[in-house]
Amino acid sequence: MIIILKNQAPEQKTKVLRNWLEQQNVEIHASTGEFQTIWGLVGDTSKIDTDLIEGLEIVEGIRRISEPYKQANRKFHPDDTVITVGDGIKIGGGNFQFFAGPCSIESEEQIITVAKAVKAAGATILRGGAFKPRTSPYAFQGMRNEGLGLLLEAKKETGMPIVTEIMDASHIDLFEDVDIIQVGARNMQNFELLKELGKLDKPIFLKRGLSATYQELLMSAEYIMSEGNPNVILCERGIRTFETATRNTLDLAAVPMLKEKTHLPVVIDPSHAAGIARLVKPMSFAAAACGADGLMIEVHNDPSKALCDGPQALRPEEFAEVVKGVEEIRKVIA
Ligand code: PEP
Ligand code: MN
Repeated sequence: MIIILKNQAPEQKTKVLRNWLEQQNVEIHASTGEFQTIWGLVGDTSKIDTDLIEGLEIVEGIRRISEPYKQANRKFHPDDTVITVGDGIKIGGGNFQFFAGPCSIESEEQIITVAKAVKAAGATILRGGAFKPRTSPYAFQGMRNEGLGLLLEAKKETGMPIVTEIMDASHIDLFEDVDIIQVGARNMQNFELLKELGKLDKPIFLKRGLSATYQELLMSAEYIMSEGNPNVILCERGIRTFETATRNTLDLAAVPMLKEKTHLPVVIDPSHAAGIARLVKPMSFAAAACGADGLMIEVHNDPSKALCDGPQALRPEEFAEVVKGVEEIRKVIA
């Protein structure tokens, strides 16, 4: 971290700042020029509040040299994290997985039918929402506990590991047999929830917030990891921009950029990004081409009757085509 002091900053005030910084266990290397003094801070600066320092009247500017996330940082962990679920299904480090299933679990028949169909089409991990974060309190909120029970039944029936969203830390016990816990876009910065999930050893599927930067996403991963859970999968699911033709804007640069910054697997969700079923295939191909570690795709046996997100849901046969095409693309880029 570098701090630039204002020209003619009173010595008494710079002394106070210096003492305070030294108490935070950082070493200061000062370089005094004719017009400016620059302090180079060496040591663990992750706990230092840059906004607080920048607000001081003697400070001209401040810049972090190293990122505030450590455990998620590729600099300190050069090898890709590989997360294993179920019967040896690996995510990351060159292992690509298809997470597929309906937006929400609607009935026993629906989830079992879709689970079998996506498995036959090549999906390796079954998704399905039981607790649904809906914009309107009047919209279908998911089957909640009953839905979780049906998802577990589908897991038993097909042998597929399952991923489903948690909305509140008080529900953690209900997720005991869930293989991967999803934190949705709206909860990406629910720090108390992230801390609780950090105490588990289950993989956490962390979706990027609607307006979160890469660094904010990585800091949220850091919340989970700093509590002791290293098993985090990142997911780009579209961000909010000025464009209104698609539900969100898929930020594919997130894949190569995040992979430079972190060793964690990066999955793309083209369904919530586009919001339109016919865009899911081209966006999936693009995601595979730019090096994503997996795709999360919403699939429904009858999208026109879906209780949630029908317009973006693929029918199983459309999903099968996506799987085939992605496999071809992966051969080319390998
Ligand atoms: C979902 O995956 O069903 C979901 C609600 O996603 P997001 O949090 O990305 O909107
Ligand atoms: Mn959905």
